[in-house]
Amino acid sequence: MIKLGSHVSMSGKEMLLASAKEAAAYDANTFMVYTGAPQNTKRKDISALQIEPAWEYMKSHNIREFVVHAPYIINLANSVNPEIYSLAVEFLALEIERTKAMGSHVLILHPGSHVGAGVKAGIDRITQGLNDVLNADSCYIALETMAGKGSEIGRSFEELAEIYDKVIHNEKLRVCLDLCHLNDAGYDVRNDFDGVIDRFDKLIGKQNAAVIHVNDSKNKCGAAKDRHANIGQGTIGLAALRYAVHHPAFPDLPKILETPYIPSPENPDKKVPPYKEEIQMLR
Ligand code: FE
Ligand code: FE
Ligand code: ZN
Repeated sequence: MIKLGSHVSMSGKEMLLASAKEAAAYDANTFMVYTGAPQNTKRKDISALQIEPAWEYMKSHNIREFVVHAPYIINLANSVNPEIYSLAVEFLALEIERTKAMGSHVLILHPGSHVGAGVKAGIDRITQGLNDVLNADSCYIALETMAGKGSEIGRSFEELAEIYDKVIHNEKLRVCLDLCHLNDAGYDVRNDFDGVIDRFDKLIGKQNAAVIHVNDSKNKCGAAKDRHANIGQGTIGLAALRYAVHHPAFPDLPKILETPYIPSPENPDKKVPPYKEEIQMLR
């Protein structure tokens, strides 16, 4: 059975156990968590994450794998402000430890934004940061393909390939293919997913894909925007998303929904997660 899930929260007293329960409520068999609020670096101690009861629950609910997403304020590409960069490196090293302690082997990371210094300076900074934190015992870091808004690095497979070239422990690097981001960056996910995979395979190698983010897009292919749409309600469409999710190139990868919450049918002022229905649509 393909591994399909969504991002879920990790909070309250139950922490990772709550994440696993939320995933099971969506009939998911995998999930993704942030180790705390994605916008900040405040984190609970590993001992408070309820890791053992969470794994017990997962094992009895057919969940054998989950992935972790680093907070998006980590900007490893910042060569302009040394303080932001060193905070990013320090925090990333801790996220790697947390990911391993939680029993996940993949930490997803946005490569970062060069904030005006240019792509080359940004990539040099990212590789320096990854060389600072990665060693033979690290979990995998999955660099996410980005939409290319602002000065984001990782909008093309070429940019990610360059990072691979320059990182010493690049056996620890993987890629997270975000279908909305690929579409917005100009890859034709809707009409030619095979062609996109071909291109990825030539530049990086399809065995390097570790996670797929399954999102529809509110914008046209190449718009460089990054606004996720609900499954079947965007420019990629249900047929193409189903095709990608069931693609024979990636039978074992966790496929994670990051689509927006929707107004509740009972109370339109309240937003509810769409994941149970969307997972069903894609299975
Ligand atoms: Fe992401
Ligand atoms: Fe994503
Ligand atoms: Zn996005």
